[in-house]
Amino acid sequence: LVRELDTLKNLPCETKDNHRIKLWVNTGLMADVFRSLDRGAEGVGLYRTEVPFMIKDRFPTEKEQMQTYREQLKAFAPSPVTMRTLDIGGDKELSYFPIKEDNPFLGWRGIRITLDHPEIFLVQVRAMMKASEGLNNLRIMLPMITGTGEVEEAMRLIHRAYYEVCEEGFHVVMPEVGVMIEVPAAVYQTRELAQMVDFISVGSNDLTQYILAVDRNNARVADLYHSYHPAVLQALKKIADDAHMESVQVSICGELAGDPIAAPILLAMGYDILSMNSASLPKVKYVVRNISYSWSQELLARVMIADSPEVIHSTIELALEDAG
Ligand code: PEP
Ligand code: MG
Repeated sequence: LVRELDTLKNLPCETKDNHRIKLWVNTGLMADVFRSLDRGAEGVGLYRTEVPFMIKDRFPTEKEQMQTYREQLKAFAPSPVTMRTLDIGGDKELSYFPIKEDNPFLGWRGIRITLDHPEIFLVQVRAMMKASEGLNNLRIMLPMITGTGEVEEAMRLIHRAYYEVCEEGFHVVMPEVGVMIEVPAAVYQTRELAQMVDFISVGSNDLTQYILAVDRNNARVADLYHSYHPAVLQALKKIADDAHMESVQVSICGELAGDPIAAPILLAMGYDILSMNSASLPKVKYVVRNISYSWSQELLARVMIADSPEVIHSTIELALEDAG
């Protein structure tokens, strides 16, 4: 099986009836990069920039960040690398930037912090842009977006950073900018948000947690955390439909994207890109290459009227077994 999965590396990720979907990877450290290239990743859908911040004991300087980001961009060039702006708070802590709150997941997190501290945001975005000089494969992604105002403000800062970087003499192209949909409020504003950006990416880990009101890290309620909950699937379908209505590319970069059982329904919903941990990539590709788009659409239609996560999961699992 290992050898079989290995031969998959250079084969296209398309269904039996030639529907293509891109399989990208999530990265944090350089080790992830090498593993990903080894498995034939076509791009990075989520580079978690918190990781290089977490392994330091102070904020990395613009120059340090630039060097770190350049390694990522260079390793994948000319393939795109989606760099998420700092997403700390919630479950991601920096020892040198402590945040004490009763409800961290509903508190100061992600874009909320960086818009309150534009100096952190500007340094990071400038470092990303400088790192992309001559490579032009950078995409910038904003986490925890709840409304259009945040995107407007972030865009203003991104344009300012771009102006500053050009003033300093760097020759860079303006990167594509996208937002994560991971808060229920954003689900209902997908079309408005899509009009403001170049791409949309679903953070299904947080989206599931917020739709179901189940802490993603609390063992006591872990059996209530259902990525296959009908409400979660309705949200995922709505996001894909609404993004496409605005002709904007839509991806998913939460854990669900790397679940081979989810692949047929995400494909049928029209997701353009699935971004996952590199270990999942061969398995998901294997599933995609062994099903057809029309078959997954019929399966999706059945699944969307089922009323429990267990039934939905087993329906897909059985259908996949039947399909061989
Ligand atoms: C998500 O929320 O699904 C996601 C991809 O981001 P993170 O897991 O880093 O919060
Ligand atoms: Mg998230």
